[in-house]
Amino acid sequence: MAQVSPHGLHHVTAIATDPQANVDFYTRALGLRLVKQTVNFDAPETYHLYYGDEQGSPSSLLTFFPWPDVPQGRRGAGMTTATAFSVPGSSLGWWHERFKNLQIDTDAPTTRDQEEVLTFRDPDGLVIDLVASEGDHRSGWDGVADIPAEHAVRGLHTITLSEQQLDPSATMLTDLLGMNLTAEEGSRSRFGMAGGTSGALVDVFAGVRERGWQAGGTVHHVAFRAPDLATQTLWQQELRARGVQVTQIIDRQYFKSIYFREPGGVLFEIATDTPGFAVDEPLLELGRSLKLPPWLEPNRAQIAAALPPLQLEEDIP
Ligand code: ZN
Repeated sequence: MAQVSPHGLHHVTAIATDPQANVDFYTRALGLRLVKQTVNFDAPETYHLYYGDEQGSPSSLLTFFPWPDVPQGRRGAGMTTATAFSVPGSSLGWWHERFKNLQIDTDAPTTRDQEEVLTFRDPDGLVIDLVASEGDHRSGWDGVADIPAEHAVRGLHTITLSEQQLDPSATMLTDLLGMNLTAEEGSRSRFGMAGGTSGALVDVFAGVRERGWQAGGTVHHVAFRAPDLATQTLWQQELRARGVQVTQIIDRQYFKSIYFREPGGVLFEIATDTPGFAVDEPLLELGRSLKLPPWLEPNRAQIAAALPPLQLEEDIP
């Protein structure tokens, strides 16, 4: 029987309100690259904004649906309640200073499970952690003038799922998705994929009583990596054979996707590493202009007219 074994986190998708505030925060304050400006393929009157490293590599990606009028959500059980990025081991102090100077809502660095963590919130209240990670050799994006390359965000590190109970969710992670329990501390259990390094970690925080409410400032879904379409197709069959309700394979233009829910209610996606973000614009120009998939291109004028204009850094005189 095939084994479903994602080799890392692919992306995290969250809900924002104002797209301009979202772009400003993630590109200028956090120093990620806007690697794609497109629309929510299921609701094309809404942007879908992708941030990541230079190429938008899988495991570097955080994406947003900005819905300007969405109310504030609430974190709780059945949700992804924190998204962590890794930064070099000695950089947390530098980031703490930067966030204080930029008046970003941040906590003091703490030590959690032998890792140094700096928690902050984006303009919509989405919780992001920076984790000091010595062994992360990814290069990140060094295209932001006031963020030295030595401190740049390297990519995703961990996602944290909050659950009422550990067991049913943990069983799906280990028995179905091939992850290994690598650490336990209090209510937090850590699961690793493919060696369990930075970018391939899932924490489950159990014993959360109140269920969350998905809206502004909360995570919509998390995606894990499949190398290619053939592997994803095998995994889809395997998930179905194991009784999981999984969607058909959906073309997301930059990857192919299947979706299913874990027992605690968090929406999971498995996304292919290919073809990636340079499929419809050159690497140097990623994110500069609105890109649409071929099936929405005939409606470009109407779609573009309904979207609020975005001002990118290079547009500012
Ligand atoms: Zn997704």
